[in-house]
Amino acid sequence: MGNSSSRGVWRASLPVLVGVLGIGLAAFSLLLPGKPPQSAPTAPVRTVTATTPVEVSKAPAPTPSPEPLPPRVDCTQVPCVALTFDDGPSAYSEALLDKLDELGVKVTFFNTGQNTANRPESVKRQVESGHAVGGHSWNHVQLTTISPADACADANRTADAIKQASGVETYLVRPPYGSWNDAMLAACSDKTFILWDVDTEDWRTHDAAQIRDHAVGDSRAGSIVLMHDTVAESIEALPSIVAGLKERGFELVTVPELWNEPIAPGQSFYNGPRAG
Ligand SMILES: [Zn+2]
Repeated sequence: MGNSSSRGVWRASLPVLVGVLGIGLAAFSLLLPGKPPQSAPTAPVRTVTATTPVEVSKAPAPTPSPEPLPPRVDCTQVPCVALTFDDGPSAYSEALLDKLDELGVKVTFFNTGQNTANRPESVKRQVESGHAVGGHSWNHVQLTTISPADACADANRTADAIKQASGVETYLVRPPYGSWNDAMLAACSDKTFILWDVDTEDWRTHDAAQIRDHAVGDSRAGSIVLMHDTVAESIEALPSIVAGLKERGFELVTVPELWNEPIAPGQSFYNGPRAG
């Protein structure tokens, strides 16, 4: 009993003792010549220094998320034409990309998955140069000859190869031979099929003058012009095509730029908006 009661007294007096000790310590620290208050602020300064790297690592954050560039031109108001190149990348790709750089023109490449896997550096360069990219099946299969599910798997596999090569995820698909149907589009509703309304027939004629005449003469506002990465004469004709289209008052843009907003998936287009 005596033990417990003395323990009780001890317990009761403990807060008092702690309080007295606390006051004593506080009074003592007040008597000290300002050293503890000085060392106290230095600690937070060090903490700030420690967080500085965090601030530094925060600094580049705005850089990877720049404001998206405004469209160079509003193709719903101004007549535009989109040049497109199918079947690449090929042995001609680097020469074609050099020529496009010289001309300062952005185009759209519809690459096959297999050629992308074979020449990933060319697809990377297409994207880095500011061109748009889309898929053109894995190995140029006529997608309507396989099941809609298989056609979608083929389109996805091709898109994956393009993403692996360039980092860009594309949902644009140009079906080989322009061959598509509603069942295919319904099954691949996350894709948009991009056809064309101007056929240069470059793969058939291999004639630079005829290719130029089709590209320049047959284009209207919103036209999508079909050419091939694999046809040397199309590269040869390119300067006169660009000059001819500009002379006719057309802005040359990529396929996505034909629209003034992102193209919703699950659609098919033969041309963009017919401005004017
Ligand atoms: Zn093709």
